[in-house]
Amino acid sequence: MRFDRLRLNGFKSFVDPTDLVIREGLTGVVGPNGCGKSNLLEALRWVMGENRPTAMRGDGMEDVIFAGTTRRSARGHAEVSLSVDNRDRLAPAGFNEADSFDIVRRITRDAGSAYKIAGRDVRARDVQMLFADASTGAHSPALVRQGQISELINAKPRNRRRILEEAAGISGLYARRHEAELK
Ligand code: ATP
Ligand code: MG
Repeated sequence: MRFDRLRLNGFKSFVDPTDLVIREGLTGVVGPNGCGKSNLLEALRWVMGENRPTAMRGDGMEDVIFAGTTRRSARGHAEVSLSVDNRDRLAPAGFNEADSFDIVRRITRDAGSAYKIAGRDVRARDVQMLFADASTGAHSPALVRQGQISELINAKPRNRRRILEEAAGISGLYARRHEAELK
């Protein structure tokens, strides 16, 4: 699954609307310490349904909203939009007609997160499943955080297995089985 563009608005240090255009091939992001490189990758994981504030280096999910500086006031909401290239038709039924579509996550202070796929309101789970079935997503081994390699080496076997399952694209099946067993 290819991504064409990541758009941030009010997310962490990206207070003004910012587009990261992702072209074919390798994309490098360079800049001085604290300029927002890690924030970009966090925005990507966040729009794919990441639910752990700690994975966003925050105490609560609202910490992703621009918190204000001496010159600019804080924002009340943050939004990240991801344009997905769907020419390989990996999206689930119902979203699979178009060559591309947008996934949008928006968080408002005190109101939590809302998601849209191709303009339609969906649940967090729908977005998470879409990426899990395409062998990518917020927990995908394709996204390596700072310090994650040493975590992987020191992980308990059960946790390491989860990473392998995600890479094999079967974590979505496990999630569905777990839900079926609860019913
Ligand atoms: P390094 O090279 O050190 O890894 P980096 O380019 O990865 O740096 P980030 O960690 O992405 O930098 O960005 C950190 C900056 O983002 C800090 O200046 C921090 O104040 C700012 N920041 C984080 N959360 C928010 C927020 N909610 N509101 C405003 N600014 C924020
Ligand atoms: Mg960084």
